[in-house]
Amino acid sequence: MRGYDVVICGAGIAGVAAAEALTARGASALLVDDRSPLSLTSDASSECYRNWWPGPDGAMVALMNRSIDLLEALARETQNAIALNRRGYLYVTTDPARVGLLRQAGEDAAALGAGPLRVHAESGTYSPSIVHGWDGSPDGADLILDRATLRRFFPWLADTAVAALHARRCGWLSAQQLGMTLLERARARGARFMRGRVGAVEITNQHVSAVHVDGHRVITGAFVNAAGPFLQHVGRMVGVELPVFSERHLKSAFEDYLGLIPRDAPLLICADPQTLPWSDEERALIADDPEAHDLLGPLPAGAHCRPEGGMGSSWVIALWAYDAAPVKEVFPVPLTPYFFDVTLRGLMRIIPSLEAYIRRPPRPSIDGGYYTKTRENRPLIGPAGPRGSFVMGAFSGYGIMAACGAAEILAAHVSGATLPACASAFHPARYDDPAYLSLLDAWTDTGQL
Ligand SMILES: Cc1cc2nc3c(=O)[nH]c(=O)nc-3n(C[C@H](O)[C@H](O)[C@H](O)COP(=O)(O)OP(=O)(O)OC[C@H]3O[C@@H](n4cnc5c(N)ncnc54)[C@H](O)[C@@H]3O)c2cc1C
Repeated sequence: MRGYDVVICGAGIAGVAAAEALTARGASALLVDDRSPLSLTSDASSECYRNWWPGPDGAMVALMNRSIDLLEALARETQNAIALNRRGYLYVTTDPARVGLLRQAGEDAAALGAGPLRVHAESGTYSPSIVHGWDGSPDGADLILDRATLRRFFPWLADTAVAALHARRCGWLSAQQLGMTLLERARARGARFMRGRVGAVEITNQHVSAVHVDGHRVITGAFVNAAGPFLQHVGRMVGVELPVFSERHLKSAFEDYLGLIPRDAPLLICADPQTLPWSDEERALIADDPEAHDLLGPLPAGAHCRPEGGMGSSWVIALWAYDAAPVKEVFPVPLTPYFFDVTLRGLMRIIPSLEAYIRRPPRPSIDGGYYTKTRENRPLIGPAGPRGSFVMGAFSGYGIMAACGAAEILAAHVSGATLPACASAFHPARYDDPAYLSLLDAWTDTGQL
């Protein structure tokens, strides 16, 4: 088989973005996957993006800002084939004691480069999102403290809502269209897709020399591990132990037949931890199920939902990572019977009308995948293992939004070009630094939804 400058293992969003960025720099690339492109984790996302990331430094904000710049450029060049909007993320609290946390989050995000915080303590100063597109939308965030403003723009929120933080350089897009656009661009520059399983990577004189795919030997000088939930397994083919683990995350989609979630809404997030108000009968039922009784205790903040499809659609997607323990990756992804019901109840705290669906539930469709991630929830982008071996992954719950920015960093590593300042924060060798390891012990907020 002919040789390639680079062989990429995995045609999820990480692999196709890598192929696009590498071919844009003149490399010949072979993309290998035993599944159809974009059909595993990259097909399960809720397709949202944000430049809203905590951290001891602004590296994640810088990565996402750059990635969103690239998404916007792509949208502009394609007449918005990727259906990018900028509705924002609306974090809502019903707890007066948590308003200070929202303000602090806004101030921290501003200091990290996400844009200014505007505080609205009176009516008439807040501007809502535009429904379509993104041009002309502000960045930063708006903290709405004025109840009249909350009622005017979000009348369907609970009367108990006391504040909302609207992060603005955020929204959603079509992940499949994004992936297909990147793949087509890579193909147009000569990249090839090969259906098959990478079984081994050949190393000669401590340098990648070939990749074995279903009995074929492909000669190459560079190998990119973009294997998503199989990152660790593929890493072992080049003799590296990558510091990653996986959490199962589910997503529900349902027909909002009562029209309770407005079609022009932003992403709506419950910012309060809560203990769900189960009835006595439900409590007894759950208490009997050893796999479910955690649902009776306190659950974390973060139940979220958004309208799905155009203005004429009535679908809504809803998620809540209330159970995000590390697990082994198993396919098909095991589903849990309570997920939709629990997520709906979590959202009822900020959108009480959803209670109607407890009495007459729509029939949800549920899917999911794995957040394969590092301990501090930052990706791995760069060299790992013998010379010519790279990793592009641990994309956790942000791979769609990060892919374009991450691919630019990967391509700079592969080609030896100048790296952006934030690249060192994602270098796989960062764990070799004892100072970084001690920083990790104090790292509590990973920004995960
Ligand atoms: C419920 C849920 C909601 C999410 N919401 C969002 C969101 O709103 N925004 C966002 O940005 N991200 C979101 N994500 C995260 C995002 O989906 C992932 O970060 C991203 O899809 C990971 O892409 P990937 O290319 O690394 O992995 P994948 O898409 O899993 O691709 C990896 C590919 O590698 C292939 N592969 C593995 N091993 C081999 C081998 N040996 N040989 C050949 N091929 C191999 C696999 O077949 C697979 O196709 C969400 C994820 C989930 C599960």
